[in-house]
Amino acid sequence: TIILGIESSCDDTGVSIIQNRKVLSNIIIHQKIHSKYGGVVPELASRLHDQNITKAVQQAIFSAKIHRDRIDAISFTLGPGLIGPLLVGASFAKSFSMGLEIPLLTVNHVQAHILSHFIQNANINNSYPNFPFLGLVISGGHTQIIKVNDFFQMEILGSTLDDSVGESLDKIARILGFYYPGGPMIEFFSKNGNQKKFIFSKPIVSGLDFSFSGFKSDVSQFIKKKLKKNTLFVKQNLSDICASIQNIIAEILLEKVEKAISQTGISRIVLAGGVSANHEIRRLFMSLSKKNKKLEIFIPKKEYTTDNGAMIAITGLLKYERKLFDSIHITPYSKFKTFS
Ligand code: ATP
Ligand code: FE
Repeated sequence: TIILGIESSCDDTGVSIIQNRKVLSNIIIHQKIHSKYGGVVPELASRLHDQNITKAVQQAIFSAKIHRDRIDAISFTLGPGLIGPLLVGASFAKSFSMGLEIPLLTVNHVQAHILSHFIQNANINNSYPNFPFLGLVISGGHTQIIKVNDFFQMEILGSTLDDSVGESLDKIARILGFYYPGGPMIEFFSKNGNQKKFIFSKPIVSGLDFSFSGFKSDVSQFIKKKLKKNTLFVKQNLSDICASIQNIIAEILLEKVEKAISQTGISRIVLAGGVSANHEIRRLFMSLSKKNKKLEIFIPKKEYTTDNGAMIAITGLLKYERKLFDSIHITPYSKFKTFS
């Protein structure tokens, strides 16, 4: 079975072709324009998706070395995400499905981040996680602990009550003067930093929920004050500041996951989403599995952490195998609804 998947929920146009679970091509066209604005400008993003989507599809078909008539179905991100960009992907996918007379499959973007682990060799273990497992989705728009009973049986155990991790990192980075997306910049400058030099307080949230807005404000205030009084201080301590922020975030995430493990008795953890590219988060979770041999940790390879077409294609494939087709009249949604 050959599936073409289209991702266009934010600022990257991703198109991928997979055959069974193997990636034949995975094209991403980044939109650089947003970097100077400190975040994604929806109107500009929609226009660029429109310009890039045909190129991305052509490139994906070309580098997969197949004829387009061999594609069995097309899948695309239905939501959540920015509505303009989603509409571009949806319109293209619908036309493609009508033109080639092949089935249409719609994908929940958050679910796809988790299901990216079912792409062949998608994680550092090079193996598929067995069910049930706990998914930790850490991305630009979401921070959730999800109990995954089966491919399409997912249950949210905890969510952020306010900002997501990625959003908080991006906002802090902006105050430090970094371009968008700020997460990778914080990681870059954290190298060789002393991660215990600056202590910021961790949020206290009951259950398995998260909160990052207080933490974000604390750190932002701290940096703003220092910048006002003594700009040089921030420059000289940049790597220690970045390392400290990163380490605390990694600890917050790890502590919640440990809580989820003890509450559910599930000791299989699957990381997903853009922030799981972060080396400190990866390091802490790996060291946890070294300490506790019963624990299985699945960490995605870098290319499957941030948005990509392959995760939309694999989710499409898994839906195709279950005949979970969608109508051509379906429309995108911007806010998270439920898992299908
Ligand atoms: P969502 O998936 O919730 O709809 P999104 O698609 O915008 O949101 P992703 O592409 O999954 O989010 O992730 C983007 C986020 O990941 C950004 O906030 C970015 O700063 C962060 N990020 C990417 N790489 C790293 C890294 N190495 N360290 C920390 N954060 C990172
Ligand atoms: Fe995403």
